Amino acid sequence: MSGTKGMDVGQPSVAGAPPGDATVDPAVTSGAMRPLWLEHGVKQEQFPKLMQSLETDVCVVGAGISGLTVAYTLAKSGVGVVVLDDGNIGSGETGRTTAHLMSNMDDRFTTLEYLHGQRGAQLATESHIEAINYIERIVRDEQIDCDFKRLDGYLFEKESKRNDTRNVRVEMEAALRCGLSGVYLVPRAPCPGFDTGEAYCAPRQGRLHAIKYLNGLAKAAVRHGAHIYTNSRVLKWEGSNKNEATVTVDGDLTVRCKHVVVATNTPAQNRLVIHAKLSIDRSYVVTAEIPRGTYTDALFWDMEDPYHYVRFQEGPPDADWDVIIIGGEDHPIGRQANEPVEQIYRRLEEWGRARWPSMGRILECWSGQIAEPVDALAYIGRNPHDYPNIYIVTGDSGQGMTHGTIAGTREHILHRAVSGGGGRPPRATDRAAPARHVGCRAPVQAC
Ligand SMILES: Cc1cc2nc3c(=O)[nH]c(=O)nc-3n(C[C@H](O)[C@H](O)[C@H](O)COP(=O)(O)OP(=O)(O)OC[C@H]3O[C@@H](n4cnc5c(N)ncnc54)[C@H](O)[C@@H]3O)c2cc1C
Repeated sequence: MSGTKGMDVGQPSVAGAPPGDATVDPAVTSGAMRPLWLEHGVKQEQFPKLMQSLETDVCVVGAGISGLTVAYTLAKSGVGVVVLDDGNIGSGETGRTTAHLMSNMDDRFTTLEYLHGQRGAQLATESHIEAINYIERIVRDEQIDCDFKRLDGYLFEKESKRNDTRNVRVEMEAALRCGLSGVYLVPRAPCPGFDTGEAYCAPRQGRLHAIKYLNGLAKAAVRHGAHIYTNSRVLKWEGSNKNEATVTVDGDLTVRCKHVVVATNTPAQNRLVIHAKLSIDRSYVVTAEIPRGTYTDALFWDMEDPYHYVRFQEGPPDADWDVIIIGGEDHPIGRQANEPVEQIYRRLEEWGRARWPSMGRILECWSGQIAEPVDALAYIGRNPHDYPNIYIVTGDSGQGMTHGTIAGTREHILHRAVSGGGGRPPRATDRAAPARHVGCRAPVQAC
C-alpha cells in the first residue's frame, strides 16, 4: 500500500558514473536505486514479523521518521505502542531523503506569511527549530551515532538573477520576522567555483545520516517499551467513537488498540479527503566523491524553479574524500518532460560540477517522492471525515525530516491526544489539523 514502492525510473548513466545498483529488494527501500544511506556497510536494523494478534494503546502504521518518532515519544511517556511496517524501517521515503534538517523554511517565509499570516508563519518556524532541537536531544540522550551535525545553510538566487538579489533580501527579512535568529547577508555563498551573488546565511541548521539515525531511534523506542514489527503489511483499520480500533494485518492478524497513527507518508486509507489536499512530486539526487578540505561543510539551496539542494556527508574513514549530495529537478509525478532519466541526473551533475569543481567520481543516483500539501505545512492530527481515534502524518513538503519529528514531539496535539496526556484531541476546526480549510490566509495553531 505504500504508493511509492518500486517507482524509481530507469538507470542513470551519468558521465563516468557506475550505473548504480538497480536490483534493490523493494522491501529494503521504496525504489530500485540504492541510496547513499545503505552504502559502506550500513544496514537497516532488523525486527521480527508480526506472528500473532496483539493489544496495545497505540498502533503506529509506518516505520519512517514520522512513525518511529511518534512511537519513541509515546513509549518514553509510558504509553503502549506497536509499530508495523510492510518493509524494513526506513524502507519508505526516509531511506531516500537527503536529510537536511531545516528551520529555514523550504516553501519560503514570504509564502508562509502570505498563506498563514505573521503569527502562523512564526509558529511553523518555531516548530521546525524545536524539531531540530528534539533530534539533537534524542541523539544525545540515546547516544545515537548518526553523524548529526549543526551547520550553516545558504540561500542564493537563481543563476539568471544573481546580480539582482532583492528576493534574497526580502526573504531574509521575512526569516527574521518569523523568528529565525542570527540570519545575515554574505556577498556570496561559499561555492568555490561560482559567484552566486549575495546570499543569506541561516545558522543552526542540521544534517544526519538517515538510516543510522533511524536505526538508533528504533532501538531507543524498543528500549523504552515499543514493539516494532517489519514485513507486516497493514491491510485496513477501523476506528470508533469509543477509543477502540482494530488494525488488520496480512496473515489474518489484528492489533486492537485505542488509537491508530497512520504514518505511511501518503495516507494509505479509504478516506479520500486528505488526498485532495496533496500533490506528489518526484525529486532526484546525485552523489559524488569530493576531496576533503575542498569545500565548506554547509547546506545550500538556490532559488531556481525547480530548485537545487546540496549537502555533504563524511566518506569512509580510510578514504581521503567525502560525499557531496546534490538534489533537485523536482517535478509533479506523471508530468515529467519526455526525456530519459539519465538527462535529469546529468543536469544535476553538471550543475554541481560548475559550483564545486573538485567534485570527483559519481557514486549514487536515486529519486523519491515528496508529498506536497497545498498550503506548505504538513497535515498532522485527526484524519478528516474519519473516526476521532484515527490520526495521520503526511504532507511533508520537502521538510519531512522535521515535519515527521514535529509529529512526535511531546508538545504536539497528536501526542497529547493519543497519550491521554491532558491535552484535548485535535478538532477539525484547528488550522494546522489535517481538516483545515486550505487556500485561505489564516493563522495556524502551534504545533
Ligand atoms: C529525494 C528526497 C529528498 C528529500 N530531502 C529532504 C530533506 O533534505 N529534508 C527533509 O526534511 N525532508 C526531505 N525529504 C522528505 C523526507 O525525507 C520525507 O518526507 C520523510 O522521510 C517521510 O517520512 P515518513 O516517516 O513520513 O514516511 P516514510 O519514510 O515513507 O515511511 C512510511 C513507511 O510506511 C510504510 N508503509 C506504507 N504502507 C504501509 C502498509 N500498508 N502497512 C505497513 N507499512 C506501510 C512504508 O514501508 C514506509 O516504511 C526528501 C525526500 C526525498 C524523496
